[in-house]
Amino acid sequence: MDPAHWRQRALAALLPGRCLLCDVFTGTATDLCDHCRASLPWITRPCTQCGLPLADAPVPLCGSCILRPSAFQRVVAPFAFEAPAAELIRGIKFGGDLVANRVLATLLAGEIVQRYDDPLPAIILPVPLHWRRLLRRGHNQAALIARTLGRLLGVPIEFDGVRRIRATRAQTGLDRAARRRNLIGAFACRVPVAERTVAVVDDVMTTGATLIAMAHCLTAAGASEVHVWTLARTIG
Ligand SMILES: [Zn+2]
Ligand SMILES: [Zn+2]
Repeated sequence: MDPAHWRQRALAALLPGRCLLCDVFTGTATDLCDHCRASLPWITRPCTQCGLPLADAPVPLCGSCILRPSAFQRVVAPFAFEAPAAELIRGIKFGGDLVANRVLATLLAGEIVQRYDDPLPAIILPVPLHWRRLLRRGHNQAALIARTLGRLLGVPIEFDGVRRIRATRAQTGLDRAARRRNLIGAFACRVPVAERTVAVVDDVMTTGATLIAMAHCLTAAGASEVHVWTLARTIG
């Protein structure tokens, strides 16, 4: 066995990180190798308010965020919802994949630390599932992600801070207007958020209808700013 290979084996035994995408030993405690990390669909220059990729203009906001007020003041979503990030996220959502959750939520926490010069939000609120869907699925992916973020960033989490008070139809297959209608009155805020900045956490930001409905509920309860932290967002 050549020395380099032997050294890698010894390191892997000490720090048993194994890449969840290509299965090599990473030689660190992280379960993602550098090559696969670089191959993830990073959104490299996002609009600070909506998270969509910016054109080349040297401004922090995209055209539509400049023109229209948004329900939230900041979005951190490091990845486009594309392969291979999308598969990992589906693993978290439908299979409760804790390794994928740890890897992606750690990368999200790193992005949050880099992008905030100002203090972090005072509380983290995972997007809730209605209890019936929670019973069927067995876990809430937003709560898994929030737990990892809270631990890494030292921000308290209110798991039951916002409750779904009405079961809504699954959003899949509904157009934008139907998604909005589907969500009116769906949430109730159960913790004091007055004059606090809050971070709402979910796995993916798609049309944003769920997050917008939750942001309206939090703003009505007095939150000074609503930020959105998701692993990925759909673009285009
Ligand atoms: Zn890899
Ligand atoms: Zn924007």
